[in-house]
Amino acid sequence: MAKGKVIFDEERCKGCELCISACPLNILGLKDEINSKGFHPAYVTDEEKCTGCANCATICPDVVITVYRIDK
Ligand code: SF4
Ligand code: SF4
Repeated sequence: MAKGKVIFDEERCKGCELCISACPLNILGLKDEINSKGFHPAYVTDEEKCTGCANCATICPDVVITVYRIDK
């Protein structure tokens, strides 16, 4: 089954939560910490479950997310 690795450019994230609602597996959330702009950046809560579908990267308006596919 395909797996994914999701990388966030946290300083660009504005915590809009669009990626959270776009993830079919509900494995995205916002960190408690804030970035230098004062926003809570998004992160993957359960990396093991990510399929690399890239829905999150597609919907992000600020190009914060890069998805790598790891085929197993
Ligand atoms: S690549 Fe797909 S499964 Fe992985 S975090 Fe993004 S939306 Fe969720
Ligand atoms: S869609 Fe982009 S800007 Fe919005 S919370 Fe997700 S990573 Fe951050």
